[in-house]
Amino acid sequence: MARALDRVGLPHPGDFTERFVFRRCPSCGERNIVRDDDFTCAPCDSALPTQWNVTSG
Ligand SMILES: [Zn+2]
Repeated sequence: MARALDRVGLPHPGDFTERFVFRRCPSCGERNIVRDDDFTCAPCDSALPTQWNVTSG
């Protein structure tokens, strides 16, 4: 993955785990990984909150 990013010339940190954004769906409770600012729940297609709402666990 780092190699692919190098190829397209994007800056990238060493730790990719910190780049993932998680949101918990208010409708079904599923946790989703938000990519490209796509705040949509994968399982139920509901809109996800744009503010952080995932507590520990
Ligand atoms: Zn959902």
